[in-house]
Amino acid sequence: MRNNIVNKGTEELSYEIRGIVAVAEKARELGKNIIWENIGDPIAKGEQMPEWIKEIVSESALENKTYGYCPTQGLLETREFLAELNNSKNGAQITSNDMIFFNGLGDAITNIYGLMKKECRVIGPTPAYSTHSSAEGLYSNSSPVMYELDKNNLWYPDLDDLENKVKYNPSVSGILLINPGNPTGAVYSKKLLNDIVDIANEYDVFILCDEIYQNLVYNGKKHVSLSEVIDDVCGISMKGISKDLPWPGSRCGWTEFYNKEKDPVFKKYVENIGKFKMIEVCSTTLPQTIIPKVMGDKRFEKSLDERKKYYEKASNYAYKTLNKIEGVSLNLTNGAFYGALTFDDGVLNNNQHLKMDKELEVYIMGVLEQCGHHSLVEKDKRFVYNLLGASGICMVPLTSFCSKHNGL
Ligand code: PLP
Repeated sequence: MRNNIVNKGTEELSYEIRGIVAVAEKARELGKNIIWENIGDPIAKGEQMPEWIKEIVSESALENKTYGYCPTQGLLETREFLAELNNSKNGAQITSNDMIFFNGLGDAITNIYGLMKKECRVIGPTPAYSTHSSAEGLYSNSSPVMYELDKNNLWYPDLDDLENKVKYNPSVSGILLINPGNPTGAVYSKKLLNDIVDIANEYDVFILCDEIYQNLVYNGKKHVSLSEVIDDVCGISMKGISKDLPWPGSRCGWTEFYNKEKDPVFKKYVENIGKFKMIEVCSTTLPQTIIPKVMGDKRFEKSLDERKKYYEKASNYAYKTLNKIEGVSLNLTNGAFYGALTFDDGVLNNNQHLKMDKELEVYIMGVLEQCGHHSLVEKDKRFVYNLLGASGICMVPLTSFCSKHNGL
């Protein structure tokens, strides 16, 4: 084979939450019980898409139009519905032309980073859902540029760190936010978002905001969306139906572009994303057809309320329980369904057992050292963790943790 088919950059590609599967398979062969916590799939964790949504999906599947291609940007009536939903909030206004459907946000993410110049960097948070940094690193062919989230301040971004890295790094043209956060469960205040918009404004960079958990916010918090604070800054919001219907198998997500008319460079970039999408023709039609029917139905709010109540209980239970363990801390999570567990210095050693009581034992598996990244749960040890690489932070999946220990 002529050797020009291999892109050298891809040899460095890593994607922790899927890469861990090979390690887990090895552990399973060695007789370990594995509970798969490497992916935030509510269906795999035992949640159900409500029957009434399933009925809408079944009925829509019988409609002839769901069998055809849809426009490249996505079904017009669905985009119009979502534009109206956005415009009902006070903030950046959009039309159906400021939106593109993708086959899930995973697909959107690869397009968004893939269509930037290699030299352009988007600075992202750490710790964070790793798809963004994997894609950003791949396309720019170097290590991700990160800003710190501060565990002592609700896992909010360290604004000094963020500002300095934008200021002194001229290749940074975008700031990535994940709100609500995965794995931190942080929900950003309006003030914080305004401060970040001010930084973006000052250094003339755009904001990319992953808002896939926008509808899963609890503990009395409210999600403030990017469009509400973006003002005149250029922005991209990423939304989807994987988590809140929940229907991750639909592979359906979309991007909303704010203020693209206000900056010719950003406008060109957004147009290029649309042009590139033409090569793929369009995203899957069926899930798009159901969005206005589901999200426009009062039962949607109700089903979200029930799930939020559940996550609120789970969040409070995990907070109370895990913080009793010496050397371990967990912030109260206010959104999404994970928590970021941190360890005091010296606590996290290979094969270490942290005992709280007979009921609960956190067990750091031996394979940790080998893989550097971890998301295995050992059933007989009754817990639960998902260690994110060298950061030494465990991602706690709220559902599994609480159902095992509290019957929640
Ligand atoms: N963004 C975040 C923050 C996620 O946690 C996930 C999935 O876990 C995704 C995006 C992926 O979304 P999708 O199912 O639309 O690809």
